[in-house]
Amino acid sequence: MMELMRHPKLRQVARDLELPGSDDALRELREHAVDRVRNMMTGWTLDTVEDLRMRVADQLSVKLVFITSNDDVYRIAAEFAHYKLRQVPLPRLLQAEFITGDTEGLLLDNPGSVKGSRRYLAIIDARGPRAARAYFTGWHELAHLLLCPPRQRVFDGFRRSPSELQRRKDPLESAVDHIAGLLAFWEPIFKPALITAAGGDLTFAAIEKASELVAPGASLYAASLAATRVWDGAAVFLTCEEGTKADGTGLALRIQTLIPNERARSLDLRIRRSMRVPIASALWRAFYETSDTECAANEDQALWEVTGRGNLPKVPWAVQAVRRGGAAYAILKPTASRGLRHYAGSLN
Ligand SMILES: [Zn+2]
Repeated sequence: MMELMRHPKLRQVARDLELPGSDDALRELREHAVDRVRNMMTGWTLDTVEDLRMRVADQLSVKLVFITSNDDVYRIAAEFAHYKLRQVPLPRLLQAEFITGDTEGLLLDNPGSVKGSRRYLAIIDARGPRAARAYFTGWHELAHLLLCPPRQRVFDGFRRSPSELQRRKDPLESAVDHIAGLLAFWEPIFKPALITAAGGDLTFAAIEKASELVAPGASLYAASLAATRVWDGAAVFLTCEEGTKADGTGLALRIQTLIPNERARSLDLRIRRSMRVPIASALWRAFYETSDTECAANEDQALWEVTGRGNLPKVPWAVQAVRRGGAAYAILKPTASRGLRHYAGSLN
């Protein structure tokens, strides 16, 4: 995130939008996008993030369509045959991208659109395993348009959604993803739902419940990231996956992602990416033993070991862990303070 703030490409986007030009271009772009969405909501009562997405799409003149079967591809091609692309007829384009190709999403610009039809058409693959990502891809395309200066052509004809790798490498794509994450879990809608579902305790069950209510279609990964971000207490979201051991023998369960929220600075967190998950941790149990059931435990950072340097300093915390597909997710939170005092007391 540090490099993104000052990246010349993002500064250029900020200049094109005539933003004041501070040290942090990412923050400027984010605030610009959020302000635009807030203005679009004025006078509207929107209960779910899906309602919000419909409103934003309408305001940006975007028609969002999702492909749930191969038949949808042909149906969409017929329905939007009036989208005139210079390069290639729409049916042939969609066939090439979504039937023979592996495109995740397409954004089409139709500047000569007739009155009553929308200028942009976003076609997003939601077949099979892509269904969960499709929710986010929709927001990603909207976030792009929120960062476009008015009256400027963003691209010519059509544009593909970038791959995961492109998104990580391109600063603008990373910034757009970051903004899409904020919009997809619009805090004024998502946070109250989360607080109600959580009843004081941040668990995956609570995150799933809140997400089903206000952001249906979102993946648990995206929802957990958003939930830790908006949570008022310290919380760290992490994921782990199996990878080959350093010496090439067998598999080890290792940390993949580790994202502390702002409040988590109070935890003396020393766990790092690629560290091996200790067998005694609930995270290990969630991955290997309990399948889809959420595990909860009070643990200590001292369980974790750095090869050759011994155990990490003691920090007690509560762990929630659950497995989804090839990864286990966890949330670390400070142990409830009453429990802590009791524990300390019993030691004396
Ligand atoms: Zn993009």
